Amino acid sequence: MQTLRFHCHQCEREEEHCECERYCALCFGADNVRLCEDGMYYCLNCREACDYAAQE
Ligand SMILES: [Zn+2]
Ligand SMILES: [Zn+2]
Repeated sequence: MQTLRFHCHQCEREEEHCECERYCALCFGADNVRLCEDGMYYCLNCREACDYAAQE
């Protein structure tokens, strides 16, 4: 099974190489923020609310 690699919307790097300031695109929280498929960072609550999946 292919692993999805998400790229940061701002710097176009993968999450582990991204040095952008990370905060949730919806609520601007910084708690447990992960990169999602649209290239934006979302916190756990917003990911669950919007059904976004973080990279494995
Ligand atoms: Zn970035
Ligand atoms: Zn959020």
